[in-house]
Amino acid sequence: MAEKFDVIVVGAGPAGTACAYTLAKAGVNVLLIERGEYPGSKNVMGGVLYRKMMDDIIPEFYKEAPVERHIVEQRFMMLDQESAVTFSYKGLEWDQEPYNNFTVLRAKFDQWFADQAVKQGALLINETVVRECIVENGKVVGVRTDRPEGDLYADVVVLADGVNSLLAKSLGFHKEFRPDEVALAVMEVLKLDKKIIEDRFSLEGNQGCTFEIFGDSTKGVLGTAWLYTNKDSVNIGVGAMLSGLIKHKMKPYELLDYVKNHPVLRPYIQGCEQQEYLAHLIPEGGYHSMPRVVGNGVIVVGDAAQLVNAIHREGSNMAMASGVMAADTIIQARELGGDFSERGLDNYRVNLLNSFVGQDLKKYKDATHHFEKFPHYFDKYIPMMNRAASQMFTIDGTPKREKQKKIWNDLGSAGEKFRMARDLFQAWRVMK
Ligand SMILES: Cc1cc2nc3c(=O)[nH]c(=O)nc-3n(C[C@H](O)[C@H](O)[C@H](O)COP(=O)(O)OP(=O)(O)OC[C@H]3O[C@@H](n4cnc5c(N)ncnc54)[C@H](O)[C@@H]3O)c2cc1C
Repeated sequence: MAEKFDVIVVGAGPAGTACAYTLAKAGVNVLLIERGEYPGSKNVMGGVLYRKMMDDIIPEFYKEAPVERHIVEQRFMMLDQESAVTFSYKGLEWDQEPYNNFTVLRAKFDQWFADQAVKQGALLINETVVRECIVENGKVVGVRTDRPEGDLYADVVVLADGVNSLLAKSLGFHKEFRPDEVALAVMEVLKLDKKIIEDRFSLEGNQGCTFEIFGDSTKGVLGTAWLYTNKDSVNIGVGAMLSGLIKHKMKPYELLDYVKNHPVLRPYIQGCEQQEYLAHLIPEGGYHSMPRVVGNGVIVVGDAAQLVNAIHREGSNMAMASGVMAADTIIQARELGGDFSERGLDNYRVNLLNSFVGQDLKKYKDATHHFEKFPHYFDKYIPMMNRAASQMFTIDGTPKREKQKKIWNDLGSAGEKFRMARDLFQAWRVMK
Protein backbone atom coordinates (compact mmCIF):
# COMPACT_ATOMS: atom_id res chain seq x y z
CA MET A 1 0.00 0.00 0.00
CA ALA A 2 1.56 3.33 -1.09
CA GLU A 3 2.21 5.82 1.67
CA LYS A 4 -0.19 8.73 2.18
CA PHE A 5 0.67 12.17 3.60
CA ASP A 6 -1.51 15.17 4.34
CA VAL A 7 0.60 17.29 2.00
CA ILE A 8 3.48 16.62 -0.41
CA VAL A 9 5.68 19.59 -1.33
CA VAL A 10 7.88 19.18 -4.42
CA GLY A 11 11.11 21.19 -4.27
CA ALA A 12 13.08 22.39 -1.23
CA GLY A 13 13.90 25.91 -2.40
CA PRO A 14 12.65 28.94 -0.42
CA ALA A 15 9.03 28.45 -1.58
CA GLY A 16 8.75 24.74 -0.83
CA THR A 17 10.61 24.87 2.46
CA ALA A 18 8.62 27.89 3.70
CA CYS A 19 5.46 25.93 2.92
CA ALA A 20 6.66 22.69 4.53
CA TYR A 21 7.93 24.54 7.62
CA THR A 22 4.60 26.32 8.16
CA LEU A 23 2.59 23.14 7.66
CA ALA A 24 4.79 21.04 9.94
CA LYS A 25 4.69 23.70 12.64
CA ALA A 26 0.89 23.48 12.55
CA GLY A 27 1.07 19.71 13.04
CA VAL A 28 0.35 18.73 9.43
CA ASN A 29 1.98 15.53 8.16
CA VAL A 30 4.11 16.91 5.32
CA LEU A 31 6.65 15.35 2.96
CA LEU A 32 9.21 17.59 1.27
CA ILE A 33 10.81 16.05 -1.83
CA GLU A 34 14.06 17.43 -3.29
CA ARG A 35 15.87 16.16 -6.37
CA GLY A 36 19.28 17.51 -5.33
CA GLU A 37 21.78 15.72 -3.15
CA TYR A 38 20.66 18.16 -0.44
CA PRO A 39 18.47 21.30 -0.51
CA GLY A 40 20.37 24.11 -2.20
CA SER A 41 22.87 21.84 -3.91
CA LYS A 42 21.46 22.82 -7.31
CA ASN A 43 20.06 26.23 -6.48
CA VAL A 44 21.25 29.55 -7.84
CA MET A 45 20.67 33.09 -6.64
CA GLY A 46 22.46 36.43 -6.93
CA GLY A 47 22.05 36.17 -3.60
CA VAL A 48 20.19 38.88 -1.70
CA LEU A 49 17.82 37.44 0.88
CA TYR A 50 15.24 39.82 2.28
CA ARG A 51 14.90 39.75 6.05
CA LYS A 52 11.19 40.47 6.49
CA MET A 53 9.62 37.40 4.85
CA MET A 54 12.11 35.02 6.43
CA ASP A 55 11.70 36.72 9.82
CA ASP A 56 7.93 36.22 9.58
CA ILE A 57 8.61 32.47 9.36
CA ILE A 58 11.49 32.14 11.85
CA PRO A 59 11.87 35.27 14.00
CA GLU A 60 15.49 36.44 14.33
CA PHE A 61 16.61 33.66 11.98
CA TYR A 62 19.76 35.65 11.15
CA LYS A 63 21.18 34.86 14.59
CA GLU A 64 21.39 31.17 13.64
CA ALA A 65 21.22 30.99 9.86
CA PRO A 66 24.29 30.91 7.60
CA VAL A 67 23.92 34.45 6.26
CA GLU A 68 27.00 36.10 4.76
CA ARG A 69 26.79 39.88 5.28
CA HIS A 70 24.01 42.32 6.15
CA ILE A 71 23.70 44.91 3.40
CA VAL A 72 24.29 48.54 4.35
CA GLU A 73 24.82 49.96 0.89
CA GLN A 74 23.09 49.50 -2.47
CA ARG A 75 24.82 50.97 -5.52
CA PHE A 76 23.24 51.39 -8.94
CA MET A 77 25.72 51.80 -11.77
CA MET A 78 24.88 53.13 -15.23
CA LEU A 79 27.75 51.71 -17.21
CA ASP A 80 29.18 52.80 -20.54
CA GLN A 81 32.29 51.39 -22.19
CA GLU A 82 34.70 53.51 -20.17
CA SER A 83 32.58 55.26 -17.60
CA ALA A 84 29.92 54.82 -14.95
CA VAL A 85 27.38 57.11 -13.34
CA THR A 86 26.68 55.62 -9.91
CA PHE A 87 23.83 56.24 -7.49
CA SER A 88 24.11 54.79 -4.07
CA TYR A 89 22.26 54.57 -0.80
CA LYS A 90 24.22 53.75 2.32
CA GLY A 91 22.09 53.59 5.45
CA LEU A 92 23.52 52.86 8.85
CA GLU A 93 20.01 52.02 10.08
CA TRP A 94 20.60 48.82 8.05
CA ASP A 95 23.69 48.16 10.17
CA GLN A 96 21.50 47.40 13.15
CA GLU A 97 19.22 44.54 14.03
CA PRO A 98 16.85 43.46 12.67
CA TYR A 99 18.71 44.54 9.47
CA ASN A 100 17.15 44.96 6.00
CA ASN A 101 18.60 42.19 3.88
CA PHE A 102 21.53 39.80 3.67
CA THR A 103 23.73 38.10 1.15
CA VAL A 104 23.51 34.31 1.29
CA LEU A 105 25.00 31.33 -0.50
CA ARG A 106 22.07 29.14 -1.39
CA ALA A 107 23.92 25.84 -1.01
CA LYS A 108 24.35 26.65 2.69
CA PHE A 109 21.17 28.61 3.34
CA ASP A 110 18.65 26.23 1.74
CA GLN A 111 20.13 23.31 3.62
CA TRP A 112 19.86 25.13 6.94
CA PHE A 113 16.27 26.24 6.20
CA ALA A 114 15.19 22.72 5.25
CA ASP A 115 16.77 21.42 8.48
CA GLN A 116 14.51 23.81 10.41
CA ALA A 117 11.46 22.39 8.60
CA VAL A 118 12.61 18.90 9.56
CA LYS A 119 12.96 20.02 13.18
CA GLN A 120 9.31 21.13 13.04
CA GLY A 121 8.36 17.62 11.92
CA ALA A 122 8.50 17.69 8.10
CA LEU A 123 9.89 14.59 6.42
CA LEU A 124 12.57 15.48 3.84
CA ILE A 125 13.73 13.10 1.16
CA ASN A 126 16.61 14.15 -1.07
CA GLU A 127 17.89 12.75 -4.38
CA THR A 128 14.35 12.01 -5.50
CA VAL A 129 12.87 13.41 -8.69
CA VAL A 130 9.12 13.81 -8.99
CA ARG A 131 8.34 12.68 -12.54
CA GLU A 132 4.64 13.56 -12.62
CA CYS A 133 1.56 14.25 -10.59
CA ILE A 134 -0.87 11.36 -10.14
CA VAL A 135 -4.30 12.52 -11.26
CA GLU A 136 -7.47 10.58 -10.49
CA ASN A 137 -10.94 11.76 -11.48
CA GLY A 138 -9.63 15.24 -12.34
CA LYS A 139 -7.89 15.68 -8.96
CA VAL A 140 -4.19 15.55 -8.12
CA VAL A 141 -3.89 12.83 -5.49
CA GLY A 142 -0.14 12.29 -5.30
CA VAL A 143 3.17 12.17 -7.12
CA ARG A 144 5.14 9.57 -9.08
CA THR A 145 8.83 9.68 -8.19
CA ASP A 146 11.87 8.09 -9.83
CA ARG A 147 12.25 5.63 -6.93
CA PRO A 148 11.19 2.01 -7.22
CA GLU A 149 7.58 1.77 -6.07
CA GLY A 150 7.82 5.53 -5.78
CA ASP A 151 4.15 6.54 -5.91
CA LEU A 152 3.21 8.71 -2.94
CA TYR A 153 -0.23 10.06 -2.09
CA ALA A 154 -1.51 13.21 -0.35
CA ASP A 155 -4.61 15.37 0.10
CA VAL A 156 -2.75 18.27 -1.50
CA VAL A 157 0.40 18.49 -3.64
CA VAL A 158 2.30 21.81 -3.60
CA LEU A 159 4.44 22.42 -6.68
CA ALA A 160 7.55 24.40 -5.66
CA ASP A 161 9.76 22.96 -8.37
CA GLY A 162 11.14 26.26 -9.65
CA VAL A 163 11.14 28.29 -12.83
CA ASN A 164 10.81 25.55 -15.40
CA SER A 165 8.00 23.74 -13.58
CA LEU A 166 7.58 20.64 -15.72
CA LEU A 167 4.92 19.45 -13.29
CA ALA A 168 2.71 22.55 -13.64
CA LYS A 169 3.26 22.37 -17.39
CA SER A 170 2.20 18.72 -17.54
CA LEU A 171 -1.03 19.67 -15.71
CA GLY A 172 -1.65 22.23 -18.45
CA PHE A 173 -1.25 25.19 -16.04
CA HIS A 174 1.23 26.96 -18.30
CA LYS A 175 2.75 26.64 -21.74
CA GLU A 176 6.35 26.59 -22.90
CA PHE A 177 8.08 29.93 -22.09
CA ARG A 178 8.47 32.51 -24.77
CA PRO A 179 12.06 33.87 -24.89
CA ASP A 180 10.77 37.29 -23.80
CA GLU A 181 9.42 35.81 -20.57
CA VAL A 182 12.67 34.48 -19.10
CA ALA A 183 16.15 35.77 -18.46
CA LEU A 184 19.20 33.55 -18.64
CA ALA A 185 21.68 34.35 -15.89
CA VAL A 186 25.22 33.18 -15.24
CA MET A 187 27.32 33.96 -12.21
CA GLU A 188 30.54 33.13 -10.45
CA VAL A 189 31.42 32.97 -6.79
CA LEU A 190 34.92 34.42 -6.50
CA LYS A 191 37.05 33.88 -3.42
CA LEU A 192 38.53 37.05 -1.97
CA ASP A 193 40.15 37.77 1.36
CA LYS A 194 37.74 39.18 3.97
CA LYS A 195 40.00 42.16 4.76
CA ILE A 196 40.39 43.01 1.06
CA ILE A 197 36.58 42.95 0.64
CA GLU A 198 36.19 45.36 3.54
CA ASP A 199 38.84 47.76 2.22
CA ARG A 200 37.74 47.55 -1.40
CA PHE A 201 34.06 48.10 -0.70
CA SER A 202 34.45 50.47 2.31
CA LEU A 203 32.86 48.07 4.77
CA GLU A 204 33.41 47.33 8.43
CA GLY A 205 32.92 43.96 10.11
CA ASN A 206 29.99 42.08 8.64
CA GLN A 207 28.61 44.98 6.62
CA GLY A 208 27.87 44.15 2.99
CA CYS A 209 27.32 46.00 -0.25
CA THR A 210 25.47 45.31 -3.50
CA PHE A 211 25.99 46.69 -7.01
CA GLU A 212 23.29 46.53 -9.69
CA ILE A 213 24.89 47.37 -13.02
CA PHE A 214 22.93 48.52 -16.07
CA GLY A 215 23.78 49.47 -19.65
CA ASP A 216 27.08 48.28 -21.07
CA SER A 217 27.09 45.31 -18.66
CA THR A 218 24.68 43.60 -21.07
CA LYS A 219 25.93 45.49 -24.14
CA GLY A 220 22.59 47.24 -24.34
CA VAL A 221 20.34 44.15 -24.11
CA LEU A 222 17.62 44.25 -21.44
CA GLY A 223 19.21 42.80 -18.33
CA THR A 224 21.59 43.59 -15.48
CA ALA A 225 24.83 42.55 -13.97
CA TRP A 226 25.50 42.44 -10.25
CA LEU A 227 28.31 42.26 -7.77
CA TYR A 228 27.54 41.28 -4.16
CA THR A 229 29.85 40.88 -1.19
CA ASN A 230 29.87 37.70 0.89
CA LYS A 231 32.05 37.06 3.95
CA ASP A 232 35.14 35.97 2.05
CA SER A 233 33.94 35.85 -1.53
CA VAL A 234 32.01 38.01 -4.00
CA ASN A 235 29.25 36.99 -6.39
CA ILE A 236 29.47 38.48 -9.85
CA GLY A 237 26.88 37.70 -12.48
CA VAL A 238 24.91 38.88 -15.44
CA GLY A 239 21.42 38.05 -16.69
CA ALA A 240 19.68 39.10 -19.89
CA MET A 241 16.37 38.31 -21.53
CA LEU A 242 16.62 35.17 -23.63
CA SER A 243 14.99 37.00 -26.54
CA GLY A 244 17.75 39.67 -26.48
CA LEU A 245 20.51 37.06 -26.26
CA ILE A 246 19.05 35.18 -29.22
CA LYS A 247 18.51 38.33 -31.28
CA HIS A 248 22.04 39.63 -30.72
CA LYS A 249 23.61 36.14 -30.89
CA MET A 250 25.21 36.68 -27.48
CA LYS A 251 26.41 33.92 -25.22
CA PRO A 252 25.87 34.56 -21.51
CA TYR A 253 29.33 33.35 -20.47
CA GLU A 254 30.86 35.78 -22.99
CA LEU A 255 28.85 38.57 -21.41
CA LEU A 256 30.10 37.55 -17.97
CA ASP A 257 33.69 37.61 -19.24
CA TYR A 258 33.04 41.05 -20.66
CA VAL A 259 31.68 42.26 -17.29
CA LYS A 260 34.61 40.77 -15.36
CA ASN A 261 37.10 42.49 -17.66
CA HIS A 262 35.27 45.80 -17.88
CA PRO A 263 37.78 48.54 -16.94
CA VAL A 264 35.35 50.08 -14.43
CA LEU A 265 34.54 46.76 -12.71
CA ARG A 266 37.82 44.86 -13.03
CA PRO A 267 39.49 46.53 -10.01
CA TYR A 268 36.74 45.25 -7.67
CA ILE A 269 37.53 41.61 -8.44
CA GLN A 270 41.26 41.80 -8.96
CA GLY A 271 43.11 38.89 -7.32
CA CYS A 272 39.95 36.78 -6.97
CA GLU A 273 39.94 33.03 -7.40
CA GLN A 274 37.01 31.28 -9.07
CA GLN A 275 35.13 29.01 -6.66
CA GLU A 276 31.94 28.22 -8.54
CA TYR A 277 30.25 28.83 -11.90
CA LEU A 278 26.45 28.71 -12.02
CA ALA A 279 23.71 29.24 -14.61
CA HIS A 280 19.95 29.43 -14.25
CA LEU A 281 16.77 30.85 -15.74
CA ILE A 282 14.80 33.64 -14.04
CA PRO A 283 11.07 34.01 -14.76
CA GLU A 284 10.73 37.68 -15.71
CA GLY A 285 7.45 37.70 -17.60
CA GLY A 286 5.72 39.10 -14.51
CA TYR A 287 2.00 39.42 -14.02
CA HIS A 288 1.04 38.56 -17.62
CA SER A 289 3.02 35.29 -17.44
CA MET A 290 1.54 33.99 -14.18
CA PRO A 291 0.06 30.55 -14.78
CA ARG A 292 -2.97 29.04 -13.11
CA VAL A 293 -1.89 28.62 -9.48
CA VAL A 294 -4.63 26.40 -8.04
CA GLY A 295 -6.29 23.20 -9.21
CA ASN A 296 -8.08 20.28 -7.61
CA GLY A 297 -5.66 19.02 -4.97
CA VAL A 298 -2.77 21.18 -6.16
CA ILE A 299 -1.19 24.59 -5.51
CA VAL A 300 1.72 26.23 -7.38
CA VAL A 301 4.18 28.51 -5.50
CA GLY A 302 7.38 30.52 -6.03
CA ASP A 303 9.20 30.55 -9.35
CA ALA A 304 6.95 27.73 -10.57
CA ALA A 305 4.17 30.35 -10.44
CA GLN A 306 6.54 32.95 -12.03
CA LEU A 307 6.58 35.11 -8.91
CA VAL A 308 9.59 37.33 -9.56
CA ASN A 309 9.75 41.12 -9.47
CA ALA A 310 12.58 41.71 -11.94
CA ILE A 311 12.59 45.48 -11.43
CA HIS A 312 13.48 45.13 -7.73
CA ARG A 313 15.39 41.80 -8.05
CA GLU A 314 12.96 40.14 -5.65
CA GLY A 315 12.23 36.44 -5.98
CA SER A 316 13.21 34.53 -2.86
CA ASN A 317 10.96 36.71 -0.69
CA MET A 318 7.99 36.22 -3.03
CA ALA A 319 8.72 32.51 -3.08
CA MET A 320 8.65 32.34 0.73
CA ALA A 321 5.55 34.50 1.04
CA SER A 322 3.69 32.34 -1.49
CA GLY A 323 4.81 29.15 0.29
CA VAL A 324 3.42 30.46 3.57
CA MET A 325 0.15 31.55 1.91
CA ALA A 326 -0.24 28.09 0.37
CA ALA A 327 0.35 26.47 3.78
CA ASP A 328 -2.14 28.81 5.49
CA THR A 329 -4.77 27.99 2.87
CA ILE A 330 -4.27 24.26 3.34
CA ILE A 331 -4.42 24.58 7.15
CA GLN A 332 -7.65 26.57 6.85
CA ALA A 333 -9.17 24.08 4.39
CA ARG A 334 -8.38 21.26 6.84
CA GLU A 335 -10.03 23.18 9.68
CA LEU A 336 -13.12 23.76 7.53
CA GLY A 337 -13.62 20.06 6.88
CA GLY A 338 -11.10 19.20 4.18
CA ASP A 339 -12.37 20.58 0.88
CA PHE A 340 -9.17 20.37 -1.22
CA SER A 341 -10.89 21.00 -4.52
CA GLU A 342 -9.91 24.02 -6.65
CA ARG A 343 -12.73 25.96 -4.95
CA GLY A 344 -11.62 24.89 -1.48
CA LEU A 345 -8.05 26.04 -2.16
CA ASP A 346 -8.89 29.18 -4.11
CA ASN A 347 -8.17 31.39 -1.11
CA TYR A 348 -4.49 30.94 -1.95
CA ARG A 349 -4.96 32.63 -5.35
CA VAL A 350 -7.04 35.43 -3.80
CA ASN A 351 -4.59 36.06 -0.95
CA LEU A 352 -1.61 35.91 -3.30
CA LEU A 353 -3.08 38.51 -5.65
CA ASN A 354 -4.05 40.79 -2.75
CA SER A 355 -0.66 40.54 -1.07
CA PHE A 356 2.46 42.58 -1.89
CA VAL A 357 3.35 39.79 -4.35
CA GLY A 358 0.29 40.25 -6.56
CA GLN A 359 0.21 44.01 -6.12
CA ASP A 360 3.87 44.50 -7.09
CA LEU A 361 3.63 42.14 -10.07
CA LYS A 362 0.56 44.08 -11.23
CA LYS A 363 2.26 47.45 -10.72
CA TYR A 364 5.13 46.47 -13.06
CA LYS A 365 3.04 44.31 -15.38
CA ASP A 366 4.14 46.13 -18.55
CA ALA A 367 7.64 47.20 -17.50
CA THR A 368 9.74 44.26 -18.71
CA HIS A 369 8.00 44.10 -22.07
CA HIS A 370 8.29 47.86 -22.51
CA PHE A 371 12.05 47.93 -21.86
CA GLU A 372 12.49 44.82 -23.97
CA LYS A 373 10.74 46.47 -26.89
CA PHE A 374 12.67 49.75 -26.60
CA PRO A 375 16.33 48.86 -25.86
CA HIS A 376 17.52 52.43 -26.43
CA TYR A 377 17.03 53.14 -22.70
CA PHE A 378 20.12 50.98 -22.23
CA ASP A 379 22.12 51.40 -25.41
CA LYS A 380 21.42 55.08 -26.10
CA TYR A 381 20.24 57.02 -23.04
CA ILE A 382 22.75 55.60 -20.54
CA PRO A 383 25.76 56.49 -22.76
CA MET A 384 24.17 59.90 -23.30
CA MET A 385 23.89 60.47 -19.54
CA ASN A 386 27.49 59.39 -19.01
CA ARG A 387 28.75 61.74 -21.73
CA ALA A 388 26.82 64.59 -20.11
CA ALA A 389 28.37 63.79 -16.71
CA SER A 390 31.82 63.71 -18.26
CA GLN A 391 31.24 67.09 -19.95
CA MET A 392 29.98 68.67 -16.75
CA PHE A 393 32.67 67.31 -14.45
CA THR A 394 35.67 67.85 -16.74
CA ILE A 395 37.25 71.13 -15.67
CA ASP A 396 38.74 72.61 -18.82
CA GLY A 397 38.05 76.32 -18.53
CA THR A 398 34.79 76.14 -20.50
CA PRO A 399 32.04 78.16 -18.76
CA LYS A 400 29.30 75.94 -17.30
CA ARG A 401 26.56 77.61 -19.38
CA GLU A 402 28.45 76.68 -22.53
CA LYS A 403 28.81 73.11 -21.29
CA GLN A 404 25.06 72.90 -20.63
CA LYS A 405 24.43 74.17 -24.15
CA LYS A 406 26.73 71.53 -25.61
CA ILE A 407 25.03 68.78 -23.60
CA TRP A 408 21.64 70.02 -24.80
CA ASN A 409 22.82 70.05 -28.44
CA ASP A 410 24.26 66.56 -28.04
CA LEU A 411 20.77 65.29 -27.27
CA GLY A 412 20.06 65.65 -30.99
CA SER A 413 17.49 67.39 -33.18
CA ALA A 414 14.17 68.72 -31.89
CA GLY A 415 12.54 65.50 -33.12
CA GLU A 416 15.05 63.36 -31.22
CA LYS A 417 14.52 65.40 -28.06
CA PHE A 418 10.78 64.98 -28.39
CA ARG A 419 11.19 61.19 -28.80
CA MET A 420 13.41 61.09 -25.74
CA ALA A 421 10.89 63.04 -23.66
CA ARG A 422 8.16 60.68 -24.86
CA ASP A 423 10.29 57.64 -23.97
CA LEU A 424 10.99 58.97 -20.49
CA PHE A 425 7.28 59.62 -19.99
CA GLN A 426 6.49 56.06 -21.14
CA ALA A 427 9.12 54.68 -18.76
CA TRP A 428 7.56 56.63 -15.91
CA ARG A 429 4.11 55.30 -16.87
CA VAL A 430 5.12 51.64 -16.81
CA MET A 431 6.97 52.07 -13.51
CA LYS A 432 4.56 54.31 -11.61
C1 LIG B 1 21.11 34.18 -11.13
C2 LIG B 1 19.95 34.49 -10.25
C3 LIG B 1 20.04 35.55 -9.35
C4 LIG B 1 18.96 35.80 -8.48
N1 LIG B 1 19.11 36.77 -7.53
C5 LIG B 1 18.15 36.94 -6.61
C6 LIG B 1 18.39 37.81 -5.48
O1 LIG B 1 19.46 38.39 -5.34
N2 LIG B 1 17.38 37.93 -4.58
C7 LIG B 1 16.20 37.25 -4.70
O2 LIG B 1 15.33 37.38 -3.82
N3 LIG B 1 15.96 36.43 -5.74
C8 LIG B 1 16.92 36.25 -6.68
N4 LIG B 1 16.72 35.37 -7.70
C9 LIG B 1 15.43 34.66 -7.79
C10 LIG B 1 15.35 33.55 -6.75
O3 LIG B 1 16.49 32.74 -6.82
C11 LIG B 1 14.11 32.71 -7.01
O4 LIG B 1 12.98 33.53 -7.15
C12 LIG B 1 13.86 31.74 -5.86
O5 LIG B 1 14.94 30.86 -5.71
C13 LIG B 1 12.59 30.92 -6.11
O6 LIG B 1 12.46 29.94 -5.13
P1 LIG B 1 11.67 28.59 -5.43
O7 LIG B 1 11.70 27.83 -4.16
O8 LIG B 1 10.38 28.92 -6.06
O9 LIG B 1 12.51 27.86 -6.57
P2 LIG B 1 13.97 27.26 -6.52
O10 LIG B 1 14.84 28.04 -5.60
O11 LIG B 1 14.39 27.13 -7.95
O12 LIG B 1 13.78 25.81 -5.90
C14 LIG B 1 13.16 24.78 -6.61
C15 LIG B 1 13.60 23.47 -5.98
O13 LIG B 1 12.86 22.40 -6.55
C16 LIG B 1 13.74 21.31 -6.82
N5 LIG B 1 13.10 20.54 -7.89
C17 LIG B 1 12.83 20.96 -9.15
N6 LIG B 1 12.17 20.01 -9.85
C18 LIG B 1 12.03 18.96 -9.00
C19 LIG B 1 11.43 17.68 -9.13
N7 LIG B 1 10.83 17.33 -10.27
N8 LIG B 1 11.48 16.83 -8.09
C20 LIG B 1 12.06 17.21 -6.92
N9 LIG B 1 12.65 18.42 -6.73
C21 LIG B 1 12.62 19.29 -7.76
C22 LIG B 1 15.05 22.01 -7.20
O14 LIG B 1 16.16 21.15 -7.09
C23 LIG B 1 15.06 23.17 -6.20
O15 LIG B 1 15.66 22.82 -4.98
C24 LIG B 1 17.76 35.06 -8.57
C25 LIG B 1 17.68 34.02 -9.50
C26 LIG B 1 18.77 33.71 -10.31
C27 LIG B 1 18.66 32.56 -11.26
